[in-house]
Amino acid sequence: MGLFNRGSRPEPPSERPDGHDNDWAANGNGAANPLGDADGRKLVAPPAEALERAEPTPLEPEPAPREAEPARQEPEPARAPSPPPANPPQPEPDDAARLTAQQALAPLRQQAAPRPQASAIAEEPEGRAQIISFANQKGGVAKTTTTLNLAVAFAESGHRVLAVDLDPQGNLTMSQGIDPDRVEKSMYDVLVHHIPIREVIHDREIDIAVASIDLAGAEIAMSTQIGRERSLEKALAAVVEDYDFVCIDTPPSLGLLTVNALTASDKVIVPVQCEYLSMRGLVQLQNTLQMIRENLNPRVRIEGILPTMLDSRTIHAKEAVEILEENFGDRVFASRINKTVRFAEAPVKGMSVLKYDPDGKAAYAYRQLAKEVLANGNR
Ligand code: ADP
Ligand code: MG
Repeated sequence: MGLFNRGSRPEPPSERPDGHDNDWAANGNGAANPLGDADGRKLVAPPAEALERAEPTPLEPEPAPREAEPARQEPEPARAPSPPPANPPQPEPDDAARLTAQQALAPLRQQAAPRPQASAIAEEPEGRAQIISFANQKGGVAKTTTTLNLAVAFAESGHRVLAVDLDPQGNLTMSQGIDPDRVEKSMYDVLVHHIPIREVIHDREIDIAVASIDLAGAEIAMSTQIGRERSLEKALAAVVEDYDFVCIDTPPSLGLLTVNALTASDKVIVPVQCEYLSMRGLVQLQNTLQMIRENLNPRVRIEGILPTMLDSRTIHAKEAVEILEENFGDRVFASRINKTVRFAEAPVKGMSVLKYDPDGKAAYAYRQLAKEVLANGNR
C-alpha cells in the first residue's frame, strides 16, 4: 500500500555492498534516534496522527516582513555573468579534517505538522535559480554525496549550478578537492561578516561556495544578529540570477545554519539511509519545515525523500522503503541510490561519482534523480 511513486524507477541494483563504515556515529548527532531494533531489521512507523497534527510555534519575531525587505545587494558589479571565482585550485584535502557536528543552538522543537497544502504554497519568482537544500539532521545519510552528485548531474544537463557548503565539517568542499583548512574566506565570512558570496565561490566541476572550520562558530556569532535566519538568503540574492540551481549542503542538526538554508530554499531534498531509518527524525524535520513556512519562508516544501545506500538484496531495505512510502506517499522519489564503494572512492579523488566513474550505476542513479527533479519542475 501507499505506493504513489512518480515516474519510472531506475534499473535494479546489482553491485555488491561495499561494507563501507559510515561516519554516522562520528558525526555525533544527538538528534539521531533510529527506530530499528538491535539487529537493525525491525522498523517502527510513528502513529499516523503524528504526521497529521500541526501546531507550529513561531520563531522569534522578524525584524521586517519578507516582502518589505529589499534584497541586500553587495557593492559589486551586478549581473556580471557568473564571474570567474577568484579562487585557484588547491591540493587534495587532508583526510581527517572533520569536526564534530555543531549544535550551537538547540534543535527547534515543534508539535507535529501536516503536509503543506499546494494552494498555500507561494510561487517562486521566475528568472532566478531554484534553491534546493539537502537536509536531514542525521549524519551519514548521504546529504553531502547527494548535494554534489545531483549538482553535477544538473550541470551535465546544461544547467548553471552553485553548490553551497554550509556544514562546518566541510565535506562538500573537500569532495571537490579543496582543503577547508586552507581557504582564506568561507561561508563563515559570508554569514557573519556579510562579505559577498562571490568571494568564496571556487570554480570546480560546479561552482562551490566553500566551508571552513570557522563555520563551526557561525551559529553563535550569528545568534545575536538581527535577521540572523535570513543571512544566507540575503547573500544568495546577489547571485541567484546567475544560476539555474543552487544546491545547499547542510550540517547534521536543525540549528541556525540549517534554518538559514531552509529559509533561503524553494525545495528540500531529504536523503534517508534506509538501513537506519528514523521516522521520528523525519517528523522532527517536517515540524521544523512547517515552522519555517509559517514564519520565514512560505515557499519551502519537500521536493522528495531519497532512499540512499540501499542494499536491495536485504528484506530490511525493502521494508524500510515500504514504510517510507506508506508514510510519505509520492514524496518518496522513484529514484533510489544503491550502496556502492564508488561513493567512498570518488571524494578521495576530489571528484563526483559522475566524473570518477561516468558510466557506472552510481552516476546513472544521480542522473536519474536529476531527471526526476527536472520533470517535477516547480510543482
Ligand atoms: P552526510 O552528508 O549525510 O553526513 P555523506 O554524503 O557524507 O553523508 O555520506 C556518508 C558516507 O557514506 C560517506 O563516506 C559517503 O562516501 C558514503 N556514501 C554516501 N552514499 C553512499 C552510497 N550510496 N553507497 C555507499 N556509500 C555511500
Ligand atoms: Mg555531510
